[in-house]
Amino acid sequence: MALSNEQYDQIMRGYELRRRNARAERDRRYREILQRIPAYQELDGDNASTISSFITDLKNDTADAARTRDALAEAGKRRRALLSQAGFPADYLDSVYTCAECRDTGFINGVKCRCFVRQEIDLLYSRSHLEALSDKMDFSMLREDLYNGNDEALTHFRGARDAALSFTERFPACDKDLLFMGNVGTGKTTLSVCIAKELLKKGYSVIYFSAVSLFDQLAAAHFSKDRSEADSEPLRDLYSCDLLIIDDLGSELTNSFIEEELFVLLNERQIRDKRIIISTNASVDNLRSTYRDRIFSRIISGFSILKLTGTDIRFRKAVM
Ligand SMILES: [Zn+2]
Repeated sequence: MALSNEQYDQIMRGYELRRRNARAERDRRYREILQRIPAYQELDGDNASTISSFITDLKNDTADAARTRDALAEAGKRRRALLSQAGFPADYLDSVYTCAECRDTGFINGVKCRCFVRQEIDLLYSRSHLEALSDKMDFSMLREDLYNGNDEALTHFRGARDAALSFTERFPACDKDLLFMGNVGTGKTTLSVCIAKELLKKGYSVIYFSAVSLFDQLAAAHFSKDRSEADSEPLRDLYSCDLLIIDDLGSELTNSFIEEELFVLLNERQIRDKRIIISTNASVDNLRSTYRDRIFSRIISGFSILKLTGTDIRFRKAVM
């Protein structure tokens, strides 16, 4: 998937608005500074004259770039000192941007900034898939009383919930990826969605796919003409987003094409040190017989396997 022209324009209009707001905020702060530190304007005036005499010198071939640079740096230092003395942060005038890295342009040296990629992924994947699910879900929903009377299920549930919380807390420096394993309605998707929501809030890029639609995407990318370009957009996002969630693995029809794509995907993300969460209804034995050894061993070695058991808590919630 790639952005449509409309989506691209939508993002660029957003940047325009952010820059306009940033300029207005900068003007407001500048006036505030002048009120409190009248000497500040003199320094700005000095700067302007340093620059215009440099331009005159350039025309006369007598320019001294190093001296001019030093003079400007010196003036910058004095301005920051004045701000600090008056109790302003030294970067008070520069910290007006939503994204300091690209100064709300969306690009750094012609390359998309992280904040652009984040929005792109939001538009292309996460929103549509996650928002529908996540409206009513958060960690507080994961209540122990749903497991009353089933100690084994409660123990499993606590293990999975604690792993999810610590994964979220330590992200992206987690030891292992997560695999939630259990029957329908045992809370696997809820746990994944809760993690995704928290990480989206912190500004990470998250892509959420059911296994079936993930492999549709991979097939589309595989057979599209861009495949030759190693960084065709859909694959690049799947390989490099901060977190990829694959829901319901094992529900898709497996064939050697899917196996290969899944293996490449797991591998590419491992190389980039990017995290994955998988949920599945299948048992370990099932996964073992469905996927070949290299995928199975990657899962066994790279994932914390968290079992969820018990009756369908969606059903229990409905009747309580
Ligand atoms: Zn940015």
